[in-house]
Amino acid sequence: MADVVTPETRSRMMAGIRGKDTKPEMLVRRVLFAEGLRFRLHRRDLPGAPDIALPGKKVAIFVHGCFWHRHEGCGYAKMPATRPEFWKAKLEGNAERDERAIQALRAMGWRVLIVWECAIRDKEKLSTLPKVLSDWIRSDAPLGEVAGGAMP
Ligand SMILES: [Zn+2]
Repeated sequence: MADVVTPETRSRMMAGIRGKDTKPEMLVRRVLFAEGLRFRLHRRDLPGAPDIALPGKKVAIFVHGCFWHRHEGCGYAKMPATRPEFWKAKLEGNAERDERAIQALRAMGWRVLIVWECAIRDKEKLSTLPKVLSDWIRSDAPLGEVAGGAMP
């Protein structure tokens, strides 16, 4: 079958379908852009298709929703009261997939940063995000996390 849409249109469509261009992710992108850092989005050739990849620095960034990615101990990650077994299996599956992607990226020599949604929702944390991100990217830490302190 012929490809009837341009790659740009297709990637926009995919983004819509997969709910990828989320507000927290856009925010992180804007910060990186303002910091003059070059990045690529959703690279399918990397484990877990990181939301943001900085190929020159071999840095992969995931912007994770706290609920869907089971942010431990986070107030945004409360288990729903209905159908607990269903949610437990689903969310644990997500967390396991995330963990495998992180391990695979690290094995390939990539550094991995997780930016949790709660960091974006925490006004105080958000104001320090540009510095936190650029400092981490310029560090040599193999694995990092940015999380907020505020509870919903
Ligand atoms: Zn969280």
